[in-house]
Amino acid sequence: MNRDHVTEHLRFAKELGVTGVSRDPAWRARGNTPGVEQVAPVPLAARPKIPGVISLTEIRADIGDCTRCKLHRLGRRQIVFGVGNPEADLMFVGEAPGRDEDEQGIPFVGRAGQLLTKIIEAIGLSREDVYIANVIKCRPPENRNPEPDEVDTCEPFLFQQIDTIKPKVIVALGTFAARALLRTLDPISRLRGRVYDYRGAKLIPTFHPAYLLRNPSSKREVWDDMKLARELLK
Ligand code: URA
Repeated sequence: MNRDHVTEHLRFAKELGVTGVSRDPAWRARGNTPGVEQVAPVPLAARPKIPGVISLTEIRADIGDCTRCKLHRLGRRQIVFGVGNPEADLMFVGEAPGRDEDEQGIPFVGRAGQLLTKIIEAIGLSREDVYIANVIKCRPPENRNPEPDEVDTCEPFLFQQIDTIKPKVIVALGTFAARALLRTLDPISRLRGRVYDYRGAKLIPTFHPAYLLRNPSSKREVWDDMKLARELLK
C-alpha cells in the first residue's frame, strides 16, 4: 500500500465509523487465539481429495462456453466465474457482472467493486483472502435484473462453488443475491441485521456496494454487518 492508499483506506474506515486502531496483534488476529501457535496452511496440491467433492476448475470446465440460457446471445462477452481464495473462509456473493466485469472477466472490478475492495480491507482482509462470485455469471443486457429462468439455470453453479469452497461466512450483497440465496421475496432492508444458516455457512445479508455509492449514509449498517462477519470468522 502506498501513502495515498493508506490515506484513502483510513478515510473510508472513518466514514464506516471505525473509531480507532490498535497495535495489539490480537486485534487483527481473525480467528487466531492469542498464545496459540499458528500452523501454516497445507498447500492446495497436498490436500487429500475428498471423493465426490469437485474443484472450482471442474465447475468452470463444466460451465464451458455456456449457452444454457438466453444471456449468451444477448451481448455478454465472457463468463465471469469468480475470483479469490478457493479455500476462503469468507465469500461475497453479488448479483451479476456489469460492463467492467464483462470486459475483464472478473467480478466486482467497476466502481461498486472498488468500494467492495475497501469494505474487505476495512476488516483487515484483501481480495486475495476471500472469494467473490455472483448469482449470475453473464452480464444481463443494459444491466437489467436477471430474469427467473436465468437464475434457475445459473445458480446451481454458485451452489457448487459454495459447496466446494465451504466458507464459514457468506456475505450476500444486495436484495437480489440475498433473495436468491435465501429463497425469499423480502427486501434487503428486512433481511439484514440477522444471521442465517446457509449450506453449512453463516449468511449475512448486507447492502450492495452500488447502493452504497448512491446512499453513503448506509455505510454504517454495512460496517456493522462486516464487524459481525469478522466476529463469526473467529
Ligand atoms: N455488481 C454485482 O452484483 N456483481 C458484480 O460483479 C459487479 C457489480
